[in-house]
Amino acid sequence: MIKAPVSNELFERAQHTIPGGVNSPVRAFRAVGGNPRFMVSAKGPYLYDEDGNRYMEFINSWGPMILGHANEVVQEAIQAAVPKSLSFGAPTRKEVEIAELIVSMVPSIEKVRMVNSGTEATMSAIRVARGYTGRNKIIKFEGCYHGHGDSFLIAAGSGAITLGVPDSPGVTEGVAADTLTAPYNNLEAVMQLVEANKEKVAAIILEPVAGNMGLVLPQDGFLQGLRNLCDQEGIVLIFDEVMTGFRLAPGGVQQLFGVTPDMTTLGKIIGGGMPVGAYGGKKEIMDFVAPAGPVYQAGTLSGNPIAMAAGMAMLNYLNDHKEVYQQLEERTSSIVAGIRKNLQDLGLNCTINHVGSMFSLFFTDQPVVDFESAKTSDTALFGRYFNSMLQRGIYLAPSQYEALFVSTAITEELAQQFVQTNLEALKEAVN
Ligand SMILES: *Cc1c(COP(=O)(O)O)cnc(C)c1O
Repeated sequence: MIKAPVSNELFERAQHTIPGGVNSPVRAFRAVGGNPRFMVSAKGPYLYDEDGNRYMEFINSWGPMILGHANEVVQEAIQAAVPKSLSFGAPTRKEVEIAELIVSMVPSIEKVRMVNSGTEATMSAIRVARGYTGRNKIIKFEGCYHGHGDSFLIAAGSGAITLGVPDSPGVTEGVAADTLTAPYNNLEAVMQLVEANKEKVAAIILEPVAGNMGLVLPQDGFLQGLRNLCDQEGIVLIFDEVMTGFRLAPGGVQQLFGVTPDMTTLGKIIGGGMPVGAYGGKKEIMDFVAPAGPVYQAGTLSGNPIAMAAGMAMLNYLNDHKEVYQQLEERTSSIVAGIRKNLQDLGLNCTINHVGSMFSLFFTDQPVVDFESAKTSDTALFGRYFNSMLQRGIYLAPSQYEALFVSTAITEELAQQFVQTNLEALKEAVN
């Protein structure tokens, strides 16, 4: 039984000076019950908390730690960069090199701008798409997360396929009105939106594999259908690959599924654990960005030398070791097969979505293809399962609506340990 008195005390203190006690809401355990654990260090597949507990890790900082924690390749690059100063506010060689590397890896990107987070990348990308097309509206999908920019915090109520409604206080109705939403995997709904807003839609933005409603895959023809529609209507197609970029393939989903967007947003893995994002795309679109063009976007710490050193080391490693993706796929398949067998043995009917090193176990017997179907999950059961896993030293994302990430630090032996623990936790959770 894992106890966490120090974490509990820190969480109590934290709530006096930090909203909700955390610096990002997903870290709180509100959806699953209990208090978050406060981490001290991590190495390879393991996290260590303030109470000296060890957890096998399937969040990996929400994606970046694809090589496991404190990987030497990234750590050494950072250590080498630190003595040369932490920031210049002037261009550096590394920024040229990382831009060239990203362009060589990601099919859609001919030019790229570095920023400091995924949120900044998506906010900037739609500004550029609007500047480029001279149009105001964007289409996003229910259940897709694109960071916390105002335009993205919009949900469609049932049938609200014309005007968005702000999903968060502080987002103005004006912003909401420019954000149209459609159900994921529903090409027909997107076509209707475009038809009803002729020549007004600047961009369609989506996670080409969605990881923020749990893992949801694009159905056959969905991505290509969007590509064709955007070509016909002069709409900028933006793949938000903040999560999937460098994770599902060196060139992301666009490489894996062979559909090329006009623009791509990146984050997470691109910084190797440092705060980095990027957006890029066709030259003619990216040349609208200042100082080449009129769309303003800037950043005091953008292209930061320490962050670039970390990102370069990470991307170079992945680019030079493409076998990593096959290994991750096999390891994750082995975990997923094990969970399926457990479910069968227990007579449970659940849905597992899986691609590459990402998977989600949904506590529903329905196929999960969009946010509506994801929401049929039994979240109370998920909460019990999550806590049973935590008690047994396995750290999962504290929400049913998240994907899990497998890192290269998870050996086959650890994968089997996960499967065994999963069986015990499922048993406990259903009883
Ligand atoms: C995490 C994420 C973001 C936001 O990135 P931050 O670095 O947290 O701002 C945007 N889009 C997707 C798909 C993400 O998974």
